[in-house]
Amino acid sequence: MFINGKWKQAENNSTFDVLNPATGEVITRVANGSAKDISDAIKAADTAFEAWSSKTSYQRSHYLYTAWKLMMDKKEDLARLMTEEQGKPLVAARNEVQYGADFLLWFGEEAKRVYGQTIPSARPDQRFIVLKQPVGVVGAITPWNYPVSMITRKMAPALAAGCTIVLKPAEATPLCAMEMFKIFEEAGIPAGVVNLITTLDPKPVGVQFTSNPVIQKLTFTGSTKVGKMLAKEAAQHMKRVSLELGGHAPFIVYDDADPVHAAKGAVLVKFLNTGQACISPNRIFVPRHMVDDFTKEFSSRVNAMKAGNGMDKGVRIGPLVGPDAVLKVENQVKDALSKGAKLITGGKRLTDGPLEKGYFYAPTVLTRVTRDMLIFREETFGPVAPIIAYDPEDDVIKMANDTAYGLAAYVYTKSTSRAMTAFERLKFGIIGINDINPTSAAAPFGGMKESGMGREGAKEGINEYLETKLGGFSI
Ligand code: ADP
Repeated sequence: MFINGKWKQAENNSTFDVLNPATGEVITRVANGSAKDISDAIKAADTAFEAWSSKTSYQRSHYLYTAWKLMMDKKEDLARLMTEEQGKPLVAARNEVQYGADFLLWFGEEAKRVYGQTIPSARPDQRFIVLKQPVGVVGAITPWNYPVSMITRKMAPALAAGCTIVLKPAEATPLCAMEMFKIFEEAGIPAGVVNLITTLDPKPVGVQFTSNPVIQKLTFTGSTKVGKMLAKEAAQHMKRVSLELGGHAPFIVYDDADPVHAAKGAVLVKFLNTGQACISPNRIFVPRHMVDDFTKEFSSRVNAMKAGNGMDKGVRIGPLVGPDAVLKVENQVKDALSKGAKLITGGKRLTDGPLEKGYFYAPTVLTRVTRDMLIFREETFGPVAPIIAYDPEDDVIKMANDTAYGLAAYVYTKSTSRAMTAFERLKFGIIGINDINPTSAAAPFGGMKESGMGREGAKEGINEYLETKLGGFSI
């Protein structure tokens, strides 16, 4: 762990294993932080806050720029570590490191543009001035599916705003977090400004982040279940919260779309990170008369994807994160088949040769998916593509909005009018129109409804770490 500028073992010397999900082998052991370590880290962040928030935004920007340069130098090493620890194919890991680094550079620039405002008053003697100031010490909890970029997406804007931070990465991916903190250390960020707690038991971290009076802001990316629980606890102490939670993205193909182009896009985004992404499509809506052509194109592309260890050349499908993830996928597929879905390809664990030791599930395509199936409601977080037929009289946008989630949605059409109507009516925070990658450090990422609150990236992203202070001056 990295606390107050020093690398440390846990106070009670406890450690836990980090596994390679492609081989089931132990990579190494890391510190298993305790409640005392967490409160030490929070204290360090509190002590460091005054000096860090008093630096000019130009100084803070320079640290972020230095960290960005170091990250670019270490791109290949970070990507390899990510593939080993998290499982995604090396090409995807490289993309993620680049995406993660973008936040450091972008928010390094944005640090200089934290503007307040002056507001005219109705009283001749009065002047209003609005200041933007850092919220204070931030507690950050990140997931395993994007183990580098979820760290920078939170830390870059927090540091730019002038906040100090305690971060807890997911149990499955502490090594990527440790490498990122080595970069922050090497960039010369002062002791106590950034602190890392690794632990196998996230509960005491949640308790302290939501109740310790020093923490002013909780930022969380993970499941809706844990996010809701943390938000409830945080409300007791009126902590500010940003939550990036689950999704159940619709992918709507209109009858004027090119089925080949749409199928190509759908495969790319569905199987990104083996389906372990909160923006992964979970319901693919296709006009009934196009289902056969679309499914043929879609499944031929799926069948061409090689599963295996992400380090191996040509691999497109890595392992799932662990045994529970495989069980969840199996359960959803079994449920769908028992209720009338048709299996087009996949539908089983992959256990041939070296795959036996990892957590592999075949990329799977289901058709005849209906609303009574678990997969229509529950986030899958795995490599299963459910295709749903719709008829001309159906209001497909209404069908797409029929979910508690509201993160990402995708639309394929050649009609500008349909595209604009869908963009306006879909109740999702991120809409890709003939586009499967509507994400960037410069663009606001986040969800509506039970997909969370707040936005990451863009000018909205830094606002999450700023308080608004009004000054009324009588002259
Ligand atoms: P996932 O299903 O993606 O693992 P989780 O919400 O369980 O989603 O995990 C996301 C992050 O939340 C991880 O860093 C995990 O350790 C953390 N987490 C899980 N449970 C709690 C909790 N009770 N308090 C605080 N953090 C938690």
